[in-house]
Amino acid sequence: MKYEYLVSACLIGEKCRYDGNDNLKVNIAELVEQKRAIAVCPEELGGLPTPRPPAEIMEIDGEKRVVTVEGVDVTENFVIGAHKALEIAKKYGLRKAILKSKSPSCGSGLIYDGSFSRKLIKGNGIASDILSRQNIDICDENI
Ligand code: SF4
Repeated sequence: MKYEYLVSACLIGEKCRYDGNDNLKVNIAELVEQKRAIAVCPEELGGLPTPRPPAEIMEIDGEKRVVTVEGVDVTENFVIGAHKALEIAKKYGLRKAILKSKSPSCGSGLIYDGSFSRKLIKGNGIASDILSRQNIDICDENI
């Protein structure tokens, strides 16, 4: 079976979420078991620990930044992790990704607005954005 998908690692049950939990979706975990998907966690690939403080994307001085609830700018970690995820997608020739919705890394279409108040706005997470610019089709776990 040929690998087809890059998937968010938390969706296959890896406890890489900021709070040390996962977002297991059995149908997506099965894709990895069937060797049709490769799982990555862009935030861990970017060097962030688990658990870690929650972070959201916000605009600061006209620039898109990722900042934790404690006010630490972690944009660089997110960008490094996104590029590492892209390298893995390229290495395996993956053209599709199934990524966790609403995440500041993996979200596509809707993300939290930067106020840490659970309000959603239009936008993509950092990894989702970088992958989609390389013509990788992104969808979320609600496929
Ligand atoms: Fe899941 Fe993506 Fe967040 Fe990692 S960065 S925990 S894979 S949503």
